[in-house]
Amino acid sequence: MSSSPANRFLAPVFQALSPRLWELSTSPYFQGQVLIVGAGLAGLTAAYMLKQQGLRPIIVEAKKRPAGRLANLRNWADMPLELGAEWLHGQRSTLFRWLDGQYQNQIVEDEGEEFVPYKQQLRALEDYPGAEVLLERLNELGYEEAPIKGNLLDWAEQNGIDQALYPLLEYWAGEWGCSAKELGIEALAKINRQWSSGDLDFKAEPSLYDLIDESLIRPLRPYLQLGQVVKHIDYSGAQIKVFTQDQTIVVDKLLLTVPLPVLQKESISFAPSLPSAKTAAIQRLKMGDGLKIFFKFNRLFWSGDIIGAKMASSYIDTQAYKSGKDAILCAWAFGEKAEILRNMGQELASRAILAELDSLYVGAASSHFEKYYWQDWSQEEHIWGAYSYPSNSEQPGDRAELQAPIDYKLYFAGEACHPKGHIQSLHGAFETGYEAALQILMDLNVS
Ligand SMILES: Cc1cc2nc3c(=O)[nH]c(=O)nc-3n(C[C@H](O)[C@H](O)[C@H](O)COP(=O)(O)OP(=O)(O)OC[C@H]3O[C@@H](n4cnc5c(N)ncnc54)[C@H](O)[C@@H]3O)c2cc1C
Repeated sequence: MSSSPANRFLAPVFQALSPRLWELSTSPYFQGQVLIVGAGLAGLTAAYMLKQQGLRPIIVEAKKRPAGRLANLRNWADMPLELGAEWLHGQRSTLFRWLDGQYQNQIVEDEGEEFVPYKQQLRALEDYPGAEVLLERLNELGYEEAPIKGNLLDWAEQNGIDQALYPLLEYWAGEWGCSAKELGIEALAKINRQWSSGDLDFKAEPSLYDLIDESLIRPLRPYLQLGQVVKHIDYSGAQIKVFTQDQTIVVDKLLLTVPLPVLQKESISFAPSLPSAKTAAIQRLKMGDGLKIFFKFNRLFWSGDIIGAKMASSYIDTQAYKSGKDAILCAWAFGEKAEILRNMGQELASRAILAELDSLYVGAASSHFEKYYWQDWSQEEHIWGAYSYPSNSEQPGDRAELQAPIDYKLYFAGEACHPKGHIQSLHGAFETGYEAALQILMDLNVS
């Protein structure tokens, strides 16, 4: 493996994660053609690892751009805006350690304050009666008390949570990418217990996308085929035939990293069909509805984030920790809130959000408003949602089943596959991509 700055930081991170696989993968004798479907973080990570071991992976990506749910908007404001993932979660996460090793000066901890609407005004979270205690209890689910079956609203009812705090339940479910009624407490408690990445959040300057672009996308450009939609995969023979809209590629191993809804909608057909245990797990897992609406104002009239509001799951103080000077507030909406806003249409929904902000900031929002930008992940082709969330239909072992390779030929990665609690995150996608690459290397080595 070469000793570029990226590699120097990668090796210790992953040696610690899975030492045995690492040892096996560093054998230099690999032969075979590997194709990766999807150039999101999972696919890019796997491709990077395979390339470092001397292979020449082919990455086929349906969109005209790489990086999937990591995307940014340029030239709309005086800073790039993260249309998808925005934070590195956890000071112990593999991805944080890898990026922080290379870009320490560009990564900063987000210590922003949170405010909650209270009788048409905003109160700091710590001054809102019962709010901090509620959020602490939710973070402890799975540790301190026996989780109950049902959804977050059932939990709130059974635990006598004050109705005045219910808007915070919707905010918290939004963080998990769904509505309170969709969030399955049992699955959530398990994920809470498995989470091992730490509780700090970090932002990147100029953007997370830029760091991934420099460290992963650029080195992989020669291997990347954009605008290639995989439609059919035939793995009945010794080699695998992959059909896109305009070519057939024959390879030895195939790694599939497409988002869950692509598998649920059966946008890709398989011969033979996927095993029934896998298709059942695919159908039980859930991906949430999610959108982000950026609002640009001609001056800053707020400070910190707003949680527990009515129209959006949260309002994020977007320019915080950025060198840009533009005043940008982003409405995040997940689950039912996203659906309601979409059904209203962009103009009406934006006006409703401005009206909510006006009520909290005495008319300042409409008087300083310049423009908005709407990013709806549920309508985004080849993605169709925000991220997978813990639901009541999920069964223990479903994530591992989704990740399980088939016949030493088909491998699976992506955030929804993470079997150890790092679902719905960039570092979860990163880790599954890495593990799939190691598995492929190991199987190429012995076959
Ligand atoms: C609004 C939003 C905010 C988020 N915020 C954060 C955050 O702050 N921190 C965090 O850690 N995570 C966050 N996430 C989650 C994070 O973005 C994802 O977990 C991660 O990017 C998923 O990576 P992936 O490789 O699994 O999937 P993806 O990034 O979805 O990549 C899969 C790729 O497969 C491609 N594809 C689909 N079908 C085909 C086909 N038939 N042929 C070829 N290619 C195909 C897709 O186009 C896509 O590029 C957020 C996500 C969203 C949407």
